[in-house]
Amino acid sequence: MDLFETSARSGDAAPLAPKAAKALSAAIRNLAGWDRAYPESAISHQGAWIVAGRKGLARGVAVGFPVGKRPRWTSALKGAEKSAPGATVLVLEGTHESLVALREALPFLQPRPTGKTPSFGFGDRTGMATPGHLLALRGSGFFPNLAQQSIREMTRTQRSPAEVLDAAVFGALQSGHLTGFGADADHLKTLDDVDRCAEAGFVSFTLDAIEKVIDAAPRMNDADLEQAYQKILAEVPAAKGWEKKYSGKTFTFEKKVAVRMEGRAFREAIVKYGRAIPYWIEMDKRVRQKTKGRACEIEIAVDETGAVTTGAEHVFIARELAERGMTFQGFAPRFVGEFEKGVDYKGERKILQDSVIEHAVLARAHGGYKISVHSGSDKFSIYAMIAKATEGRFHLKTAGTSWMEAVRVIARKDPALFREMCDHVRGQFAKDRASYHISGDPAKVPAPLTLQDADLERVYVVEDAGRQIMHVTYGSAFTAFRDRIFALLAKEEDLYTACLQKHLSRHVKGLKIRGARKATVKA
Ligand SMILES: [Zn+2]
Repeated sequence: MDLFETSARSGDAAPLAPKAAKALSAAIRNLAGWDRAYPESAISHQGAWIVAGRKGLARGVAVGFPVGKRPRWTSALKGAEKSAPGATVLVLEGTHESLVALREALPFLQPRPTGKTPSFGFGDRTGMATPGHLLALRGSGFFPNLAQQSIREMTRTQRSPAEVLDAAVFGALQSGHLTGFGADADHLKTLDDVDRCAEAGFVSFTLDAIEKVIDAAPRMNDADLEQAYQKILAEVPAAKGWEKKYSGKTFTFEKKVAVRMEGRAFREAIVKYGRAIPYWIEMDKRVRQKTKGRACEIEIAVDETGAVTTGAEHVFIARELAERGMTFQGFAPRFVGEFEKGVDYKGERKILQDSVIEHAVLARAHGGYKISVHSGSDKFSIYAMIAKATEGRFHLKTAGTSWMEAVRVIARKDPALFREMCDHVRGQFAKDRASYHISGDPAKVPAPLTLQDADLERVYVVEDAGRQIMHVTYGSAFTAFRDRIFALLAKEEDLYTACLQKHLSRHVKGLKIRGARKATVKA
């Protein structure tokens, strides 16, 4: 059989024909001693072929080339050499070292910025969700931000930025994904957060200056607001010029959006974000410094502030950052209404629409960055509106909803583990819910021990109240059951992938970016 030899074609990365991919992956599974090898991963690249596989939870990658003709690009790869008919096969363990070497050797495994393309952010807390994510996006026109993880999520799942990125890189390899992906270090709040994620290789940096934001500004009485304003003037050198630039002014955009910076609107914006402006600049500088010329992009996130982001605040932030030479690719406002985790939007959709249109107009007027929608999963009733109102210039972030598909698999395939896990996290709910916008209440949801197997999924994955409990307690679930969860997901990998594809495809279909693009051309 000369399959080993002929699969190593000379051009850049391309999938093998399905028949060859199947035969080669079956042969490699035996040769490498893996439990499975993924036919969809089989590609040829510059004189070699690549196949990814797994043994239990351990990842593996095989790279083969004709005997005596080892391609230069493989020189940094360290693996066990095995002989196959006409070829040498390098079997690599999917360690951090191997995945970094592969990432450096193969351009399609290097994360890159999302740019202006409509993009979809996927948080993957299990490190096994990427294949389902990529299947859901296939043919949609969205650019995937695969490794999207906040520092909070990494802490709760006990993973490092490097592990998060490794999982996405392997997932892309496993899926034979050759068209690029991004990596979003989400909600970075400190310079140390920036350093850790820059070093790991992330390329999207979502900067959250919440620690410098004075969130109470909109709730202050006039006297307190004035006092806080005077304090900002004394603290922030640039603040002295802001009164002249903004106070009492009305800014008009595209003849339809008028942003008034009168009286309180001006003072609230300055008090709330005056100290954040220099901090964002400092974080941005740190990103440039630590990524050393790597193509990167920045998102400004204020979605976790306590009050709805006003047009005045948006204008103030956008202008002040631009004036200091900072460019950013995304802006995440705090929107009106409730973006609770894992359930549909709660609020007045017409008011939300007006505000999305306003932010989109302001984004176009200040450089054309995308509007970023956080906690964006499961908001089916507003997707079409978001795509249209932003004219397709948006980014949507999802994370917990993919964890919920893992929860679905556990409920279906291991009811005993599910009951133990569910019982445990119900006890952690009061503590775990603190950092989230949710309304679920364990007292109103039947305990798992009282439910039939067949009802577990309905009560805790499908229905909102139970869904929210499982959604926010993932950290507690990981802490107590991590190994058992991962072992089950590895065993039920195909089901997990199918569930993710099904659930996230609904999001992608609802967002209709193709229609949104047409609308842009017409307007
Ligand atoms: Zn957010």
